[in-house]
Amino acid sequence: MILKKRFESDELLILRYLNRRIKLNEKDKFRYLNLEKGFEGEIKFDQLIENIQEERLILNDLLLEVNNSYFQIDTLIISQGIIYLIDIKNFEGDCYMESDKIFSVKTRWEYKNPINQLKRSETLFSQLLRILKCNYLVESTAIFINPHFTLYQASMDNSIILPSQVNRFISNLNNVPSKLTNSDKQLAKKLLSLHHPKTPFSLPPSYHYDQLQKGVYCNKCISYYMSIEKYNFVCGNCGEREKISKVILRHINEFKLLLPGQKITTKIISEWCNTELNRRTICRVLKNNFEAVGKTKETYYR
Ligand SMILES: [Zn+2]
Repeated sequence: MILKKRFESDELLILRYLNRRIKLNEKDKFRYLNLEKGFEGEIKFDQLIENIQEERLILNDLLLEVNNSYFQIDTLIISQGIIYLIDIKNFEGDCYMESDKIFSVKTRWEYKNPINQLKRSETLFSQLLRILKCNYLVESTAIFINPHFTLYQASMDNSIILPSQVNRFISNLNNVPSKLTNSDKQLAKKLLSLHHPKTPFSLPPSYHYDQLQKGVYCNKCISYYMSIEKYNFVCGNCGEREKISKVILRHINEFKLLLPGQKITTKIISEWCNTELNRRTICRVLKNNFEAVGKTKETYYR
């Protein structure tokens, strides 16, 4: 049973939206593509454990803290007497391992060693369990999910699961019987309450409203070539149709995330969407989805 679903982090969303509206510098673009890729791998893993057998609780994307040290867990599975901490890596291509480090064969770049990250999380999580007076076996695993990944000179460390071993890992997991008790469920609740929703360590790139490209774009192919037909926006590139109110709401939410300090008014959202749409339509979407503050021309929404 999934107790906490996985969503894109704010950082990924911000970079994704920015990438559609400005030219990211190389560093931000690299960061963005890495986050996108990582998320894709996590979703792939989620699909694999969707129908996990026996009684188990799944908590995705936890950010926890012990003694001022933060650690993140991609997937945490509570089983009878045992907790699995899983880190999912979507590395692609040929890599090799050398004295505990992972390098790309092509670029010789060093990747952050997932095993070290994992061991750190395991240590911190075990401390947390002791603080909570809970007694579980903790097993941590780094799963390389991408079928196009090869790791030369991999150590036979059983905390590494290579692409060809992923299915076996899941069937082994399914074969372990598990009945959960109330205290297992209590622990899950406690962990959810300890989760930090905002990452303390990621700074989005700096940008200004004026730099961002305005306009509505297609949700499917990201083309800004959109026209209006009755109640829909229609994409001139791929033909995708989306209800006008839905498109506007999607763009308001994007505005809110990208420009959290800005007041949301009909005027600014009209400018943001930059369409031939009547202001009244935009005003209606705002009224239906947000709370209006003030009653004059200065009305804004939150
Ligand atoms: Zn399209």
